[in-house]
Amino acid sequence: ISPVHVVGGGLAGSEAAWQLARAGVPVILHEMRGVKGTDAHKTDGLAELVCSNSFRSDDAEANAVGVIHAEMRMAGSLIMSCADRHQVPAGGALAVDRDGFSDAVTRALEAEPLITIVREEIDDLPPEEWDLAIVATGPLTSSGLAKAIQKATGEDQLAFFDAIAPIVHRDSIDMDICWYQSRYDKVGPGGTGKDYINCPMDEEQYNAFVDALIAGDKTGFHEWEGTPYFDGCLPIEIMAERGRETLRHGPMKPMGLTNAHNPTVKAYAVVQLRQDNALGTLYNMVGFQTKLKYGAQAEIFRMIPGLQNAEFARLGGLHRNTYINSPVLLDRSLTLKSRPGLRFAGQITGCEGYVESASIGLLAGRFAAAERLGRDIVPPPPETALGALLGHITGGHLTTDEEPGKRSFQPMNVNFGLFPELEAGAIVRPEGLKRFRGKDKAIAKKKAMSARALSACKAWLETA
Ligand code: FAD
Repeated sequence: ISPVHVVGGGLAGSEAAWQLARAGVPVILHEMRGVKGTDAHKTDGLAELVCSNSFRSDDAEANAVGVIHAEMRMAGSLIMSCADRHQVPAGGALAVDRDGFSDAVTRALEAEPLITIVREEIDDLPPEEWDLAIVATGPLTSSGLAKAIQKATGEDQLAFFDAIAPIVHRDSIDMDICWYQSRYDKVGPGGTGKDYINCPMDEEQYNAFVDALIAGDKTGFHEWEGTPYFDGCLPIEIMAERGRETLRHGPMKPMGLTNAHNPTVKAYAVVQLRQDNALGTLYNMVGFQTKLKYGAQAEIFRMIPGLQNAEFARLGGLHRNTYINSPVLLDRSLTLKSRPGLRFAGQITGCEGYVESASIGLLAGRFAAAERLGRDIVPPPPETALGALLGHITGGHLTTDEEPGKRSFQPMNVNFGLFPELEAGAIVRPEGLKRFRGKDKAIAKKKAMSARALSACKAWLETA
């Protein structure tokens, strides 16, 4: 059997190599550290954790990241087994001894007879003679390879920075205050003229909001990020600092919008949220990329009328991150549509975080192994956490209707907003509970989604 080449020995590449070897497929793993470093990694160890040592919640009963942990364990994940073996106390979270963890991954891959590790930088697209390859070079992909990917996929298909607006769970938005309407009722392709959720502000609310943005606690950029602001990507608080009226003439302009609950009173400013996933369960705050600290974001954005109880699927940010426009470029098996046999995995595909990156490495490894062995490639069903994340990456995402060609795909952690809705009657009222709504109901929903995911994953692994 000829080898599959994996470029990048981080969280995703290490897991992909392991999955290939477990399926009996030889692997050549190319990792540049040892020859060339990155701005964030400090060691030559494979699967180095560059920042926090946490894999987040390990609760597989009611937390999406806990569910993906459990699914990865079921699928024989190397990253999860090494994390479990090098766990340190962290309450309900799975946190690890970072050196012990990275050493364990490195030793397991070095000891695997089917895996050859080569310390070298691949500074161009994998050559054609590597008929099957996986690029898993992460958020800090070296510049030669990044440029080659950009050349192969198109100028605007590779992002070098994340300018992320917060994403809100739709069912936490108060529709007694907000209303659906596109600006000037414009109907874009596939749209209805009611594609946005609008939150109205009066003058007093607007002024208080601008003051809070200016006073809010901000994160400083890391030295190495040295990012210049670029057009269309200014953090919301920087816009607020530029002048009291700037936001009202920018992302918060009220023109072309009529408050359905109060049509005679013109809003002074309007915050718009745009549907973010095909399921319609998540909405992003249009133009609200920000460097405010997470705590400050939640507090300040809940000042917006209608968002007083907002639950955030992710908060905003702005940092260096290399990722491709996967929904356009990749098929469901993570293969570049324009280059059969070439897959992408990890954070470069537009997932976010150690666990998510490793999980996409796991899928890419399994898919490449199936292809090498001439077997059918069976993606995980969308009800699983793995399938939900794969759906986000490979197409569950909408592109903007009003700005054709402009990317709206943004990296994301796994969360229940990516899962398909439950069937009617699937949420079970716990015994002995008289009133069943609000928080209790939300927890029951998460539990039902988790249980559904785990049984779907089990069934998938039995057939895939
Ligand atoms: P990586 O783990 O980065 O692995 C990519 C590998 O490819 C690296 O080993 C790199 O050396 C190698 N490589 C790059 N280019 C080439 C090339 N041309 N040839 C050969 N090898 C190459 N996530 C969290 O969950 N929690 C955090 O606290 C967190 N903090 C972060 C802080 C920073 C500064 C950054 C940049 C990221 C952070 N992340 C965090 C995101 C996290 O890094 C990723 O989610 C995860 O490491 C991505 O896994 P990956 O395998 O895709 O990439």
